[in-house]
Amino acid sequence: DDEVTIIASVLDLKEKAVSAVMTPLEDVFTLKDILRAGYSRIPVYRHDDAHNFIGMLLVKRLITYDPADHTPVRQFTLNSLPEAAPNTSCLDILNFFQEGRSHMAIVTSKPGGFGDPVGVITLEDVIEELLGEEIVDE
Ligand code: ADP
Repeated sequence: DDEVTIIASVLDLKEKAVSAVMTPLEDVFTLKDILRAGYSRIPVYRHDDAHNFIGMLLVKRLITYDPADHTPVRQFTLNSLPEAAPNTSCLDILNFFQEGRSHMAIVTSKPGGFGDPVGVITLEDVIEELLGEEIVDE
C-alpha cells in the first residue's frame, strides 16, 4: 500500500542517481519555445553555444517586463542554474533543493568544468520518485 511504497522509496533515494531520474537534455525545453509550453523554469544558454548554460529564467519574472520597453532577452534577469553531476543522489539533490536557492539543476558530466549538459532535474522529479507516481499538473 501507499505507506510501504513511500518508505521503500525513501530508502532507495540515497542509492538512486539523478541521471536515472532526470529529464534528458534532448527533452529540455528552452527559451525559444517559451510561448508554446507552460514550464515555469526555462534554462538559458549563450546565444552561440547550446551547451553553455548561463542561468534560468523564471517565467513569472516576465510579467515584470513591459513589451513597450523592448528589453532584449540578454538583459533579462536570470536566476542561477546550479549544476549537478549525473551520479548525484536524489537524496543529496533533494537536500540542495530544500535549501531554497533553486528548484532546478542542470545535470552535467563535469560540474564546474567543461562537461556536457545531459539534462535537467527538478524538485518535482524527486518528489515523484518518493511517491512512486506521476504528479499531474493543474
Ligand atoms: P513546472 O513547475 O514548470 O511545471 P516542474 O518543476 O514541476 O515544472 O517539473 C515537471 C517535469 O518537467 C519534470 O520532469 C521536470 O524535469 C520537467 N521540466 C521542468 N522544466 C523543464 C524544461 N524547461 N524543459 C523540459 N523539462 C522540464
